[in-house]
Amino acid sequence: CLRNINQRNGFLNAFVRVPPEQKVTEQALAASQRYDTGTPLSPLDGSTFAIKDNICTKDMVTSCSSLMLADFNPEYDSTVVAKLKNAGAIVIGKTNMDEFGMGSHSTTGFHGSVRNPYSSHLSAYSAGGSSGGSAAAVAGSLCFGALGSDTGGSVRLPASYCGVVGFKPSYGLLSRRGLVAYANSLDTIGIFTRDVRSAQLVFDCLNEHDPADPSSLDGCSRRRIKDYVIGSQSATNQSRRWDIGVPVDYNVAEISPPLKTAWVSTLATLRDLGHNIKPVNMPSTRHAVSSYYIIALAEASSNLAKYDGVQFGPHTAATSRSTNDISPSLQLVAAARENGFGKEVRRRILLGNYSLTSEAMENYFIHAQRIRRLIKEEFDSIFCTPNPLNPEPERSLNSGTGVDFLISPVSISSAPNLEEVAKADGAGVDGYINDVFTVPASMAGLPAISVPVHGNGDLPIGLQVTAQYGDEKHLFEVATLIE
Ligand code: GLN
Repeated sequence: CLRNINQRNGFLNAFVRVPPEQKVTEQALAASQRYDTGTPLSPLDGSTFAIKDNICTKDMVTSCSSLMLADFNPEYDSTVVAKLKNAGAIVIGKTNMDEFGMGSHSTTGFHGSVRNPYSSHLSAYSAGGSSGGSAAAVAGSLCFGALGSDTGGSVRLPASYCGVVGFKPSYGLLSRRGLVAYANSLDTIGIFTRDVRSAQLVFDCLNEHDPADPSSLDGCSRRRIKDYVIGSQSATNQSRRWDIGVPVDYNVAEISPPLKTAWVSTLATLRDLGHNIKPVNMPSTRHAVSSYYIIALAEASSNLAKYDGVQFGPHTAATSRSTNDISPSLQLVAAARENGFGKEVRRRILLGNYSLTSEAMENYFIHAQRIRRLIKEEFDSIFCTPNPLNPEPERSLNSGTGVDFLISPVSISSAPNLEEVAKADGAGVDGYINDVFTVPASMAGLPAISVPVHGNGDLPIGLQVTAQYGDEKHLFEVATLIE
């Protein structure tokens, strides 16, 4: 891994920080000795992990690719990083990303753009975002696995563009302690690996209640998952003949022909294996992107309000655009925010603040929350297993009529060229449409995984499997069938 980082990272720009080589080598030797004596700490002992730069790591800057946090050196490890280390894993570096997780191509941060490992020197492709550095690091064999964060698709989209597995767990299963917040009600830690089995190993290592994270699912709710989802009749179906839903509303004209072919042929393979393929309707999907961008940005504007330049951020003098209408101290805050945040982050703060103003609240924020509820109810009406978090799960059982999983594309095409991405920037919010297939699962808090499939072009593409809340066990099973 160290050799690959030295050779390839200059081009890929996946890692923004790596620990001293000697430290990594010592940890690797210690792990190898544990294997020699038959005492590895876990199946992950000695494996190398890249960590997205919005996940806190002790003794290593966590910048979120923002000038605002360029010097932020946390005094603690996030819970997920601590768990990896306890399992013997080696943190081999921090990865590049879109500033504060806001973007889909890993181009908005101050470290510059990540390049997809499928790029050539003639043509550089997007690695996807916002966890593009983590995806590129795994795809380019710079590490064994990587952690990212997925708020509306930031693990699944880059995994799809880079041809690796990208997994977003059910909301609340993996601790968010130490993950710098973008939109708390949607943020999840996500996992990148080269195969599904490895993603499951990492998930098993991290999946535990964390009392230090208020949104971490407690033991009682975890038991409900066992009772209603994992142990439910349909899910324990011995013959493993799954009912697989295909959301007809996702079959939009914009999907590229090779992607459509890959989607259809994967479904045909599953049918040949004896599984049932069923069309399902999800009319609320149409509104998912607009409501996501209202909720996510409203939460972001509130989360990012704390960066006032006092503790973090560039200590600059007030800029020429400062006005005399505000006090000198507020002018300093304004200057720090103007210089510390990039253009996309500032745009989102403005949009988020607007939707929370008294005049816009009802029409935007409240309306978006209603749509979010509709999306969740729509998923619940489609899956045969009940949502274990509903007050009376047994009453929402759709056995016989529902489906076990949904299979859809992750994005509308394979990775675009970075030049196209730069040109499209002027189109502003039009770019947000790229998230159309990933945000519904985020809005409903459901587990979803991007699995690379064989397209017929030069670039990889991913298909997404989505399952009922808490049903990661069967999600991994079906994902292995299509990888
Ligand atoms: N592209 C989406 C956004 O910019 C998703 C980002 C994410 O999941 N962090 O909000």
